[in-house]
Formats: sequence, C-alpha cells, structure tokens
Amino acid sequence: MPGHDLSPSTIAVASGRPDRTPGSPLNAPITLASALVPGGASEYGRHGNPAWQAFEQVLGDLEGGLALAFSSGVAATTAVFDLVPAKAAVVAPQHAYSGTLTQLRERARRGLIDLRLVDVTDTRAVIDASDDAALVWLESPTNPMLDVADVEAIAQAAARAGTAVAVDNTFATPLRQRPLDLGADFVVHSASKLISGHSDVVLGAVVTNARRAHRAIEARRSNLGAIPGAMECWLAARGLRTLHVRLDRAESNARELAQRLQGTRAVERVRYPGFGTIVSFEVAGGPEVAQKITETSEIITYATSLGGVESTWERRRRHEAEPVEVPENLIRLSVGIEDVEDLWYDVDRCLRAF
Ligand SMILES: *Cc1c(COP(=O)(O)O)cnc(C)c1O
Repeated sequence: MPGHDLSPSTIAVASGRPDRTPGSPLNAPITLASALVPGGASEYGRHGNPAWQAFEQVLGDLEGGLALAFSSGVAATTAVFDLVPAKAAVVAPQHAYSGTLTQLRERARRGLIDLRLVDVTDTRAVIDASDDAALVWLESPTNPMLDVADVEAIAQAAARAGTAVAVDNTFATPLRQRPLDLGADFVVHSASKLISGHSDVVLGAVVTNARRAHRAIEARRSNLGAIPGAMECWLAARGLRTLHVRLDRAESNARELAQRLQGTRAVERVRYPGFGTIVSFEVAGGPEVAQKITETSEIITYATSLGGVESTWERRRRHEAEPVEVPENLIRLSVGIEDVEDLWYDVDRCLRAF
C-alpha cells in the first residue's frame, strides 16, 4: 500500500491483491484445499485457507481492523455470543435481525445468559442496562425498523464499565459507519447482503482491532467449524471491489424513493435513517394490502434478503420469527441500482392498485 492514507473507494479496489510479481494474477486464486503443506499459517482447511485472505484483507482494511470470514452472518454472530461467560448479562435491541434475537432468546431460555432487551435509540437505557453486562450487542441501523444507535456514546460508557460492544454493521457497511473507530470491540457482518451485493452468496464476518479478540474469534471459528467456502470468499471479495459505486447509486435511489413515499396517501409512515439502501414503510391499507402490493411488482422482486443490485421487497411479518414489535403492515424495500424513475413507476403503480 502507498505511503499516504487511501480513501475507502481506493481500498475497496486495491486491497487484498496478490504481490505484483511477473506472471501473477491480479486477483487471488480460489484455492480448494483440505490439507496444506506443514510449516505455513495452516495445515488443515478448517483452520485456515489462503482463499479466505483476500476477502478478509479488504474488509479488514475498510473497517480499520482484522477481519475473519465465517460461513454466514449468523455463524459470525454465534462466534461473538460464544465468548460471553456463563450466566453473564447480554444487552440487545428489542427488535433486530430475527435470527440474532432467536438465538439470544434460546440462550436465555437455556439459562446460558441473562438477556436484557432495550430500545437502542434510548442511549440512557442502553447504558444503564449495560453497566454490569458482559456484552452490548447493537445493530445500527436495525433490520427492518432502521433504528439508529449512538454507538460512540454507548461504547464509551461500556469501556468504563468493562463491557464489550459488538455492532452488526450489515446495513451501514464500513463506508457509512466504522464501529471500531467509534469504540466498539467487534463488528459483525452478514456479507450475504451489500458486501457481496449480487444475491449469490451466504457469508459472514467478524472484525476486531485487538490481537487477543482476533485470536479468540479465530479459535471459535475453528472449534465451531463455522468456516467460509473458498468460492464464497472469492465472490465476496469481488463484490467489495464495487461496494462504493453500488452503495452510492442505491443510496441515492433509496433517498429519492423515501422522499416520494413520504408524500403518498397509501403510506402511513416511512422509515429511512438518511443513509443506506433500505427503506421501510407502513401501508395505510393494512397487512393484507401490504402483502398484495409486494406480490404485484414488475421490476422490484418479491423476495427476502437485501443488499443486491436488484431491488427486492417483502412484508417482514410474513415470517413467523419476526419480532412482534415490527408492524404487520411494514414493507422492507431493499433498493438496488436500477433507474430510479423505473423503480418509482413500479412502487407507485403497486400502491395505486389496491
Ligand atoms: C441477514 C442478516 C443477518 C444474518 O446473516 P446471514 O448471512 O443470513 O446468516 C444478520 N444481521 C443482519 C442485520 C442481517 O440483515
């Protein structure tokens, strides 16, 4: 890397490349290996594979820490939860990604942790709950309610109390929020979303900025066997090359759509935090109308997941595991990089159809 601070766009493109020796490829190859010659970083494919490195290097450089790839976002989350001592308190958002809450509730039910659910926008409440906790888990913005937490204030208080802070940064991406800079100890990603960006990968990551934490997370990965695939890492590294371009375009589309939805009679409430590519809105006609709207679109795909180049939407409460705090009539729209007028044509047509 050159001797001056590079901008995130340049890091996204330039980081994690092989050495520039004659004849070497510009992209790191996909290494398929269960066993490697002893004496290097790893000699067995569950402990390490050179194919993970390019992705980990780029993501780590973008977040300002050391990244470790996992088989999914949930596997990455599990690795962090697994560091919590038995019966210790964990503070978490009252509504967030359903898989995260399902797992926390299950651990609490089994008596493994003392779970404290909070409103992450209420900084005082989060700090009060975290005083004697082992871990504060934040997701900001939250999925799908788009609540934003004051990560810096919460991390400062947690540091004084000796409480670890982890931030699920899936919605913001390192280009809109760098939790480690704000004082967090762990950043967690579902790389299945914006990082990969093409709805073709399931992958996760944990990023830390302390050697000890990095070693602990790496040990969890090996011991849990929650390792990524070589192909998935390669695709996610390729996805990261264009993250800044995709994000800029999708975000400008999202901002425009959020504004237009705001002035629409069929829409009761629009949630958009001012950045990012996700817009959630509540349909005045109720849950059944909301469901029909999502099934009527021509350009936007009716599908779960988010963060792809193609726009998708769904009524989140159609999933049984979705927290009951999420309104039944809420549609989560993941805005892609299509032409914004084509997207608005589709949204407007669907809203008028019922
Ligand atoms: C999708 C998602 C996850 C889970 O990631 P997977 O890759 O599906 O396991 C975690 N957090 C958030 C915010 C998500 O959107």
